[in-house]
Amino acid sequence: SEERQQQIHKKIQETVSEAYEILEQGGSSFDAVELAVSMLEDSPLFNAGRGSVYTSEERQEMDASIMTGKDNEAGAVSSVTNVKNPISLARYVMEETPHVMFTSRGAEKLARDNNIEQVEQSYFANPDRLKSLKKAQENKKGTVGVVAIDKNRVITAGTSTGGMTNKAPGRVGDSPIIGAGTWVENNSCGVSATGHGEYFIRFSVAKEICVKARYQNKSIQQASTEVMNQLKEIGADGGVIVMDSQGNYAFAFNTPAMARAYKDASSELIKIYKN
Ligand code: ASP
Repeated sequence: SEERQQQIHKKIQETVSEAYEILEQGGSSFDAVELAVSMLEDSPLFNAGRGSVYTSEERQEMDASIMTGKDNEAGAVSSVTNVKNPISLARYVMEETPHVMFTSRGAEKLARDNNIEQVEQSYFANPDRLKSLKKAQENKKGTVGVVAIDKNRVITAGTSTGGMTNKAPGRVGDSPIIGAGTWVENNSCGVSATGHGEYFIRFSVAKEICVKARYQNKSIQQASTEVMNQLKEIGADGGVIVMDSQGNYAFAFNTPAMARAYKDASSELIKIYKN
């Protein structure tokens, strides 16, 4: 509805301006991405954190990942049910452990042991999402993702999701998989993806875009459009947000809509539908 579009527009605008402020003040893309993703997780409008879709057992199991071009460092969590901001736990995994990915109970224990904010399942309860599970059991998408570059030219990308509506308990999509849902190489680009996760894993979509841009000497827009078109041909819906090492951005999606925004010192763009 028009009202919903306005709410989405407003939230995205708030998010890009707060994240941009960090970058403008010389902060890291890593801080900017974590902040932006967690703001979107806190909103019930998006399929991540508070707005996460339900599994077939009417629970919410969340996945998130973050990667930075500085030393290719990355952190990810999957199937967490009680962590308020999965992206912050992914950051913790990257910064404070020697590992890249934690899942379910182990990830939740890590949060518990290290005072990363946890909430009751009821915090995520979302009548709209439950209705969409009950009604359609169709695969609604709406993962959140952010890519940023800072004054030191470090790119960071982060992705967070409740997954796909009606997913089987324990099913993990592409969002927490480094190379599939999130990828950064500082000399090429950073990508955050949304879409039918199984395909995005099988085709390492996020990495594929950066590799295509680098080896085939293509712009990130060209590389992303080609990959999204290839996915469409095999029946995989989705989209990506991409930024290269010069700060150029690209959006590509093969669905009717993908809410998206871009901000730099002189311009701001927010869109939901194709045009
Ligand atoms: N990619 C997510 C997943 O498969 C879903 C989405 O982007 O909406 O879990």
